[in-house]
Amino acid sequence: MKNIVLTGLPGCGKTTLGRAAAKKLGMGFLDLDALVETRAEKSIKKIFEEDGEEAFRCQETEAVRIAAAQSGMVISTGGGVVERPENTALLRHSGLLIFIDRPAAQIAENIRTAGRPMMEGKKEKLFELEARRRSLYEEAAHYILHSGKNRRETEKKLYGLCRRLLSPARYCVIGDPIGHSLSPEIHNPVLRRYTEAAVYDKKRVERGQLADFVREARRGLAGFNATMPHKEALIPLLDEIDPGAAALGSVNTVVNRGGKLYGYSTDGAGFFSALADRGVSPQGKRLLLLGAGGAAAAVALKAAELGASEIVILARDAGKAQALADRARYAAFSAGVKAGLFEEAETYAADTDILVNATPLGMEGTAAGFESLGFLQALPETAAVCDLIYKPRPTAFLRRAAELGHPVMDGLPMLIYQALLADEYYLGTKLPLKKEYLELEKALFSGTQADG
Ligand code: NAP
Repeated sequence: MKNIVLTGLPGCGKTTLGRAAAKKLGMGFLDLDALVETRAEKSIKKIFEEDGEEAFRCQETEAVRIAAAQSGMVISTGGGVVERPENTALLRHSGLLIFIDRPAAQIAENIRTAGRPMMEGKKEKLFELEARRRSLYEEAAHYILHSGKNRRETEKKLYGLCRRLLSPARYCVIGDPIGHSLSPEIHNPVLRRYTEAAVYDKKRVERGQLADFVREARRGLAGFNATMPHKEALIPLLDEIDPGAAALGSVNTVVNRGGKLYGYSTDGAGFFSALADRGVSPQGKRLLLLGAGGAAAAVALKAAELGASEIVILARDAGKAQALADRARYAAFSAGVKAGLFEEAETYAADTDILVNATPLGMEGTAAGFESLGFLQALPETAAVCDLIYKPRPTAFLRRAAELGHPVMDGLPMLIYQALLADEYYLGTKLPLKKEYLELEKALFSGTQADG
């Protein structure tokens, strides 16, 4: 069983909170500072005075090694434990790190109200420590628990968080067909790094079975993802829909909070997070989208929200392109939105900053490909070219764009990012997205490459 490791500034309440949580959870409790003192047979104050801070830090790392070798313990750490990256790595290896975020200003206030004037001189130090360590606490943490002034409230919040992290949670992706889905391979490693025992499966659910599935999910699942053909049909079956997903009319992530189901869409945000990693933002840019289906809608509406200056939607069916353009125009106050047919691609390409293929043209297993890729030559030299397809890597479309010198991105980063953003909803925490992405990409597709 994983340890629960509490970090935070001196005076944030780690020890009191940790001891209380351990008692309620029926887990052992270990105070890292106390372990250092026991091993050194003197107080930390004495270690600092007689041997200096560096000696203390070495002893602390030894204590971290001992603590990290335990399992099923609640461990409260000294405030400076995050100053050494090896401590953080050791503690993260066997535990879930929770940063008790109690601001220095609040700690200082409490010290004053508690009538401890001898702490006066140390207040400035507290603010210095916060300035230096806040980012270290945040980066090291699996979870951040914002601590209020009311200790009982914080105790309750910490207990609730620990219970959630330590109990086995089941998730799955539903769709029809679903056999090809990579979702378990993407979600399981991430969810298991951030909880004790999450399990993520895939389940074939036919159109007519959706309502029954949702009823079961309310009782037995912590959350689920949805792919074709359920993304739209789910909406009336859920309790609350995120405004972005409601505007899109599509949900790919459902979170179960105490039996209430909340729906989100992470497709558009997944695409633009992946693009942002490559230094490309849609703000003020002209976007040319090929396709007017579900993925194109997610990209178009998010681009509108993120401040694209122009969005052109081309499809083989002018009516469908126009319908999506109308929706995007409604969502975008500032973007110019146009619709047209694929045949017009060359005309629009000349005024494009970001070109996105949101059709299945060129996908493995489909006979169809682009009849001509001549329109790529009309693009400005710096235009970024993206394909939402991730099999094959690269598609003929992307290969040609790369030959012409364009920065390119295939569909894998979007696939991974939309999943990571779903995991953020499931876990209720921010993930180090880039780091998680790189690990997943290596695990899933090492040996193949397409994106630049
Ligand atoms: P969709 O809703 O079925 O829409 C597909 C679009 O492509 C429609 O505009 C469709 O036009 C058009 N299209 C289909 N076949 C065509 C053909 N032979 N010639 C011209 N246009 C054609 O599908 P989707 O969910 O938007 O998915 C689109 C692509 O994005 C797929 O390749 C999918 O795998 C990929 N995708 C990737 C991710 C990711 O995470 N990387 C996520 C979602 C989707 P009609 O409406 O006229 O049929």
